[in-house]
Amino acid sequence: MHIDLHTHTTASDGSLSPQELLARAGQRGVRVLSITDHDSVAAYGKLDGGDAGVRLVAGIEFSTQWRGTEIHIVGLNIRTDDPELQAGIARQQRARAERGERIAARLEKLGVPDPLAGARTIAGRRAVGRPHFARHLVNTGTAKDMSTAFRKYLAAGKPGYARPQWAEPAEIIDWIHAAGGAAVLAHPAHYKLTRTRLGLCLDAFQAAGGDAMEVISGRQDPATTADLAKLCSRRDLLASCGSDYHESRPGGAEPGGFDALPPGVTPVWRDWDLTAVSSE
Ligand code: MN
Ligand code: MN
Ligand code: MN
Repeated sequence: MHIDLHTHTTASDGSLSPQELLARAGQRGVRVLSITDHDSVAAYGKLDGGDAGVRLVAGIEFSTQWRGTEIHIVGLNIRTDDPELQAGIARQQRARAERGERIAARLEKLGVPDPLAGARTIAGRRAVGRPHFARHLVNTGTAKDMSTAFRKYLAAGKPGYARPQWAEPAEIIDWIHAAGGAAVLAHPAHYKLTRTRLGLCLDAFQAAGGDAMEVISGRQDPATTADLAKLCSRRDLLASCGSDYHESRPGGAEPGGFDALPPGVTPVWRDWDLTAVSSE
């Protein structure tokens, strides 16, 4: 059974609408899908997976930090209308907006014209983030391209950078649990931690109540998968997998486009009722 538990839509920084993503996932043979937009469950409004033959599992991806490194926690199989979860989402969205204001103030000091208005226009209905400021820097001729905008202005330690004030991992894990979900450490190999530090990060995540980790994130080399599987089973964490799909691009994973979980790990969906799907 094809299961993809980490994807994005236009409700955050993905390129497909929730309906488009669902259709694409269905065409690709995905039978269980979680849309895990950044600090948002807006994709779930009126969505019904039935037409595409896809079972939807409600999810979300929260940003937080561990010892100065930004890390992401996915919540899976959540009740999206849970009040504690909703309050948490509102708090993260305030943190994102407030960070945008601090970035704008810094860029203004550097002489960049109208950074907040410019980034807001580019973001449209989405929350303003660094990519929108980067685009504004290019549009105003301040930087010659997006990567220069990040390298010279927006990367950590650069003059336009402002540190986000995300909630702590333990708080986020509590919101996910309040909503009946499982808390999953997202894409552990993406944080560029040494293996020792990744082990410490996983220990801290588990001590804070974390339930699972992504053993597969997108197209991943088999050695990384074997290593993550070892870190996972050693701690009795559950295992998750997902494409982290944002858009179709060369070399990127399509929905469902990744290896199966290796034997020896326990899938995060082991207690979920997926009978309606697996009998199809
Ligand atoms: Mn993203
Ligand atoms: Mn992420
Ligand atoms: Mn993601």
